[in-house]
Amino acid sequence: MFIFNLIILFFYGLLNPALAQDYSNFCPIKVVYPRTGSVIEASSTFLVGQTDIGAKLTCNNEIVRVNKAGFFAHVVPLHYGSNHFLLANSEKSDNVDLTILRKAPPKPIGADELKLEDLKPNQNLGVTAGDIINFSARATPHSTVTVQLGPHSLRLMAIQKNHQAPNVDVAYGKTFRRFDTNDSECYKGSYRVTADDHFFSTHPQFKLISSIGGLSENSKATISTVESLFVARTAKNPTVVRLGPGLARTTPLVDGVKVIIDGWSGDNMRCLYATNHHVWINKSELVMESLTQTTTLPSDLNMRKHNTDIIAPQAVAQTINIIEDSYGEKICLPLTERLPYQIEQKLNPNCLILKVYGVAPDTDWITSEPKTGNESKSNLDHVSWRQSEDNIYEITAYLTGRRQWGYNAYYDGTNLCLGIKERPNISSTGSLNGIKICVDPGHGGNEKGSIGCSGLPESQVNLEIASKVKTCLESMGATVIMTRISQNENPSLSERVRIATDNKADFLISIHNNALPDGRDPWKEHGTSSYWYHPQSIELANYLKNSVKMAGNFLDLGTRYQNLALARGPAMPSVLLEIGFMINPDEFTQLIDPQFQSKIAQAVAEGLKTYLTASEHATTKTDDSTQQSP
Ligand SMILES: [Zn+2]
Repeated sequence: MFIFNLIILFFYGLLNPALAQDYSNFCPIKVVYPRTGSVIEASSTFLVGQTDIGAKLTCNNEIVRVNKAGFFAHVVPLHYGSNHFLLANSEKSDNVDLTILRKAPPKPIGADELKLEDLKPNQNLGVTAGDIINFSARATPHSTVTVQLGPHSLRLMAIQKNHQAPNVDVAYGKTFRRFDTNDSECYKGSYRVTADDHFFSTHPQFKLISSIGGLSENSKATISTVESLFVARTAKNPTVVRLGPGLARTTPLVDGVKVIIDGWSGDNMRCLYATNHHVWINKSELVMESLTQTTTLPSDLNMRKHNTDIIAPQAVAQTINIIEDSYGEKICLPLTERLPYQIEQKLNPNCLILKVYGVAPDTDWITSEPKTGNESKSNLDHVSWRQSEDNIYEITAYLTGRRQWGYNAYYDGTNLCLGIKERPNISSTGSLNGIKICVDPGHGGNEKGSIGCSGLPESQVNLEIASKVKTCLESMGATVIMTRISQNENPSLSERVRIATDNKADFLISIHNNALPDGRDPWKEHGTSSYWYHPQSIELANYLKNSVKMAGNFLDLGTRYQNLALARGPAMPSVLLEIGFMINPDEFTQLIDPQFQSKIAQAVAEGLKTYLTASEHATTKTDDSTQQSP
């Protein structure tokens, strides 16, 4: 009887194509994000995955929106601790259990607990007169908290409610507070170092007095006054230069550049470019200038009995020479040692400003050799110099037209050179003949990027689209260099930029697809966006994004400034494109469709072509023409 029923069922299945197809293609519920057991800080997350086409999927009895391809995304709120979710496709008795932990914020300190923790500064500091040291601690509310620093006693104040919230974060340009803190337990205070202060690896001592008792604790960090300056040399090319310890970048330096060190915060050395002009470089990228035996900086500079007669790096600028080369034109400033510099790019007026620190100005000459190359490719109009502040020598390269095609700064011996890339070969017919483009499929190898609703990694989708971009660009006559051509390759970010630079590419286009952090909604936030870092890339970023947006018909998320490695190289306009969202079911369905990919690839190529053929002298509004160009 049982066998007979099975046979009936079998034949019924064969005779009823709908039922037969249903079972042979049955797709069990697959949650690709988040994994069960994940720990998440945000107050919500989204479950992303795939289920049977047409399935009525629920999550804890709530209906989950599933698109026509069977992909879903579902936002779930999270309470602190363990959160359980049951995804069920009741028609197919298919279900999946998921447990997600939401990390609880630090427990507020009760008035009945004696506590003193999170003492800051938590990094060793080297300070000089005039510096402000910020102290903070979490401690028992309604207490008196003081810091003893050498002979000075400093009272810390409990901060006001909602004032200077300590845990503010930012994602996609939106700032948010990670979690609420009990402000009355946060104490802060600042001390200004004077010329009379002498601290030698001094541990600040934090003291607490409350109605239930007292407590004192030494900070693990030390504070030292820098009794003499040090001269160091950059050891890497490029050396990363930042505007604060571990903070935003500014123009990187090449190796061998001499800098004066007048302070530190942990491993970040504070370099004095000129009076009131400081930057920060990690210790690992510097060597002591005066020591030949050792290549690294001593662990505590202040402990060294250093002689005080340092030789500050300095040179005299007597002439500026403009020379043609294979990159375009270069502005050379002969110096007698490698001094630090910064570059700022402006589009209105169209110029590059090179600031060199430690230069004594005595410039009587600006010379340029008669041009031998193609005049129409040159975009340098003229060069001027001035001393903008004490010890800051400023060269401005005024450029023709309204675009810039790239620049690079380097030392040839001790001659500082600013290369200005020539105009690429722009054909009026729209052919990309003679144009070299570096196409970068984002991620690769073990670095998969975001994960799409089916579990397909972004690296794969990026490669598929980027390969099609290559074909389209080549069919228009361009030369294309790929940063990777297979799924198992993962060149580092700096290698990818180097591939574009070494190959003298005219443009770098990095292809990516997007995702969101926890706490956001993939059904609401999605679309096409592009990213630039140097102003020279804004216009191309606009053209590429607009063209892809038109072809793909996703939402327009705009053209944005972002500090991205693939956009940071200054040698050519570089744009990172986020075509769509891997975690938005509808966009993902399209992103994996080969026909859609071809349409997008064609749009990328067309966007570049339209950008190139648009008049270089037309005026278009740019978002920002004064962004500093590291
Ligand atoms: Zn990516």
